[in-house]
Amino acid sequence: MRNLEKRYIFKRQTLFALVDKVKLWASRSGMLHGVKSVVKTQDMLTITTHCGLVFTCRNSKNSRSARWLRNRFCKEPCPKCKIPSWKLEKYSATVFTNSKKHIV
Ligand SMILES: [Zn+2]
Repeated sequence: MRNLEKRYIFKRQTLFALVDKVKLWASRSGMLHGVKSVVKTQDMLTITTHCGLVFTCRNSKNSRSARWLRNRFCKEPCPKCKIPSWKLEKYSATVFTNSKKHIV
């Protein structure tokens, strides 16, 4: 049996820190993509997904995708990204918290 221990991620951090940890991306169409790489240049991010999307976005704490990832608005995983189920399980067991006491 896989250990579904809760993972805690601090809420108030930049999009880069968030995406770099969860390695997932919430697209505007409501799909959850697997992130292959995320590169930070100044205040911009270049994100490459496993299905081959490449795009840039601002590295802000309150970006749409950061909010969508934290609130788990995207329920449907991208079929092309083939996100492994352990990653989806880990994501659903993640607690986004404002409290620092759980963060290690
Ligand atoms: Zn995808």
